[in-house]
Amino acid sequence: MSPVSPRFPLPAPLQGKCSQKDYTHWLYGKAAAHVRRDRKRGNEQATTDSYREAFHAAVCDGGDRDAYTGELLDWSLIRTYDNDESKQGRREYKKRFALLPTVDHVDDGLGHPDFKICSWRTNDCKNDLTIEELTAFCRTYLAYQERDDESDAPMTDAQLISDFTRIDRSPDAVQVMVADISWPSPSQPETTWHAFANLPAGATEKEISAARNRALADKRYFATCGTCHEKQPAGWMHDDTICQGCASRDFGVVY
Ligand SMILES: [Zn+2]
Repeated sequence: MSPVSPRFPLPAPLQGKCSQKDYTHWLYGKAAAHVRRDRKRGNEQATTDSYREAFHAAVCDGGDRDAYTGELLDWSLIRTYDNDESKQGRREYKKRFALLPTVDHVDDGLGHPDFKICSWRTNDCKNDLTIEELTAFCRTYLAYQERDDESDAPMTDAQLISDFTRIDRSPDAVQVMVADISWPSPSQPETTWHAFANLPAGATEKEISAARNRALADKRYFATCGTCHEKQPAGWMHDDTICQGCASRDFGVVY
């Protein structure tokens, strides 16, 4: 008896990663489960055979990688997931299956089937979102998660002027004040405001802004670190040449 060639031969990208038997089993099982789900959602056209063909085509088309993240999937994991072990091992057990290949229904499951192969983790994260919705969400998520990085960015001259100089107006004068930062105790900075320039009450915005810029150039109040080359309040310097941030990072100075 000659061996019967399988209806859905193991796709090239999966060779050596799983057996024909496991692949066929996976394909039939996935198709049956998706048809059940889509029929429940009201798609009467959904048939197991058309789903098998569509899944198989998706796997043949680069199914060794997650279609959304490009991650290499672990096809050796198919048919190894154990529900009982999962219940005992909980999250840790499930995490081992992050790269288990699965099928994502790109549309709502009601129209012509459109499938992508992706990891279980991706599928979990994506849930019912469209790709556009997921992308928008990821951007929002990352922007918020990475917001602290921005506080490490060097302060611009405009930020320094806005944070460390201020304007006090009275009926007969405009005073440009500048912050003087001192350290009465090592962890507790104290800000004292010094009068830097006295301008007449009718001073223009341009004159006021020029005075604030002069304060920024005044070495009593602002200094540039020789190591990171960032301008900062003189009170943030360790000595004439290096800022406290660089001194503690590079030379282990503790404040
Ligand atoms: Zn520095």
